[in-house]
Order: sequence, then C-alpha cells, then structure tokens
Amino acid sequence: MAELTRETIVQDALDMGFAHAGLVDVKTLKPREEVRDMCAVDKCHAYNKNWSCPPGCGTIPECDAEMQSYDWGVLVQVTMDLEDDMDFETWGEAAKSLRDLSVRFHEMLVDKYGDVLALGGAGCDICKECTYPDAPCRFPKKRMSGMEGYGLVVSDVCRDNDLQYYYGPGTITYTGMFLIKDK
Ligand code: SF4
Repeated sequence: MAELTRETIVQDALDMGFAHAGLVDVKTLKPREEVRDMCAVDKCHAYNKNWSCPPGCGTIPECDAEMQSYDWGVLVQVTMDLEDDMDFETWGEAAKSLRDLSVRFHEMLVDKYGDVLALGGAGCDICKECTYPDAPCRFPKKRMSGMEGYGLVVSDVCRDNDLQYYYGPGTITYTGMFLIKDK
C-alpha cells in the first residue's frame, strides 16, 4: 500500500510503473514567458481551448504564485525505447502512458492530501465539451495541465532537482510533476 509521504513517494511512483521519479523543491520552479509564447504557436492545438491550457490556466505570474503556494512536489517520468527517430507510435505510447499513470497517481494523492496541483498532461478531456471560456471549470481539482503550460522548461526543472531528463540515444522520456500541500 502506497504511503505517499515525502520519504516514500519516489518509491511509490516507481512501484506504480513510472520509470523514474524524484522530489521537487518548489523554490526551483521558474516559469518563463518564452515558454508560454511557444504554447501560443498552438502546435498541439490546445491553446485557448481548455481551462487546463494557456491562457485559461492563468498568466505566468498567476501560475508562479500558484506553484509557490505548495509545500513540496514530485517529478515522475515515463521512458521508452525507440526503434528509430521516426518511431512516432512509441512517442504516442509514452505520452499516453504518462497520462494514464498520472491520472491514477493524481487520484491517490488527492485522496491523501486534498490539494494537489497536477502537471502530468495537457489538454484536459474529462468533459465531453470543456466549459472554456464561458463558465468555470467543472472539475478544477481533477484536471491536469502540462508543465510547459505553466511556463516551465522541463529540462531545467529536472536539472535543478537532480533528476536526469535524457536517458540516451534511442529513448524518449516524458516528465510530469505533482505539487502537494501538507495538511
Ligand atoms: S474538467 Fe471539464 S471544464 Fe474543466 S478543463 Fe477539463 S474539460 Fe474543461
């Protein structure tokens, strides 16, 4: 049974199926406008369509303040081997795996702590149609955003918290993060 404490959470995440995990010091999180600008290019077709993505998830100062209101956090990663650089199937599989594991992990963390900021996958699809921008989010505590949506450079966050970001040629790694308020 997962205890999900600061002392056990890394092992708890590994036991759940994440390939790697590490603790996060919230003071290392430095959201940047340039990252948000990349979201605005809308390569993933989620910009301005959903409360979990920019600009609906808040301005950079708002995201910064929100992240700093948490006490501690954990980084989680899924890593898979690619057959070659064009192995888009495995890329998709890794992204889905991060999301599926993150949904379960988030539920467990919410059960224990109540207030958890989940940055384990962008483009919330909980509701058939998102209420954005006409009405408030139906499930603000359940939805997940992406780390980039909150203005974070994922490789910087990993570096600043002593977790590898890249696991070598022929591999793909996706990273998510959960911030937690002690009760
Ligand atoms: S929970 Fe529903 S309303 Fe909220 S962001 Fe997700 S899809 Fe939109």
